[in-house]
Amino acid sequence: MIYLHIPFCKSFCTYCGFYSEIETPGCYAKYADEICAEIKTRRSEFRGSLKTLYCGGGTPSLLPLNALAKILLALGEIGQGGPYEEFTMEVNPDDIVEKGVDYVKGLISLGVNRISIGVQSFDDDLLKFMNRRHDAAKAEKAVDIVREAGITNLSLDLIFGVGGMTADSWKDTVKKALDLHPEHISCYQLSIDEGSHLAQLISDGLYTEASEEDCREQYDLLCELCRERGFHHYEISNFALPGKEALHNSGYWSREPYVGLGPGAHSLSGATRSWNTRTLNEYSPEFEYLGEEEVRLESIMLSLRTDRGISAEVLRKQCDPETIERLVSEGALSLSGGRYRIPEDHFFVSDEIIRELI
Ligand code: SF4
Repeated sequence: MIYLHIPFCKSFCTYCGFYSEIETPGCYAKYADEICAEIKTRRSEFRGSLKTLYCGGGTPSLLPLNALAKILLALGEIGQGGPYEEFTMEVNPDDIVEKGVDYVKGLISLGVNRISIGVQSFDDDLLKFMNRRHDAAKAEKAVDIVREAGITNLSLDLIFGVGGMTADSWKDTVKKALDLHPEHISCYQLSIDEGSHLAQLISDGLYTEASEEDCREQYDLLCELCRERGFHHYEISNFALPGKEALHNSGYWSREPYVGLGPGAHSLSGATRSWNTRTLNEYSPEFEYLGEEEVRLESIMLSLRTDRGISAEVLRKQCDPETIERLVSEGALSLSGGRYRIPEDHFFVSDEIIRELI
């Protein structure tokens, strides 16, 4: 599995805590050269059974097609070129509307077979507050464009738990997203990232976080509406039509090895986790070697975030049996087919359940 980070944006979103830089003239050609050099240097690290490529950001849809083609060529030279089982590109609605159907066709000709659109909301006031570049109409137009270009595996990203968001606004957003017939929906609760503009607004007393109760209601509504439309809630924050579950992300949750390219990107190989430092131009890798205990905890945490859960035998060996039994009796864990799972109605409090177990 390969993750390619594109650390450029045109403007910064209010809540963003990711590593990203504002684009500058010539930055993409230079960046493609740096990634090609990194691919060559790290050629021995590419292994694993899943053949997926995920372009995330930042804003990957800012990357010109020729820069992406160059990177793919470098991957091909070390035997890691396409076709990939799943090749996802995160895109911003504004870029798709601006660049049009030919750009998406260009992505498809380079092997992209899945697109994830960062919609976040269909409420124009909230989009403005988030400092997103698009409005609701552009998000809908972007969906039309990627469909017209021939994309048959489309994911929409949404955000819930925004302070001041009404129940009606959220319901409208989820319904509009579902009415666009995506194959997949990812939905994350707004978090307050250190260094983000949002964190500053809070400390200036200009933003009040959504209450836990509101977040819970919004999450429950999302689960209900997705269920009604036949979506499979296969991970806490992810819903897919059957057979359209994201391969790449599922690989993360089962601790498949992956190589992350670009500044700030993480990689995993067995018990070694590494990440590139966050500076453009001269980024370099740092390593962390996980002990058996850390690998064990990580596996439990990741497995229980999914509806596959974890083998009952493994969990019983690794966690206190009394705690497991208590959680089962409270309905916070269920046991079937030899596996423990967190039931969907407890997904929202999964962090607490996992904390109790480990
Ligand atoms: S949220 Fe995404 S698009 Fe917005 S500033 Fe952060 S990286 Fe860029």
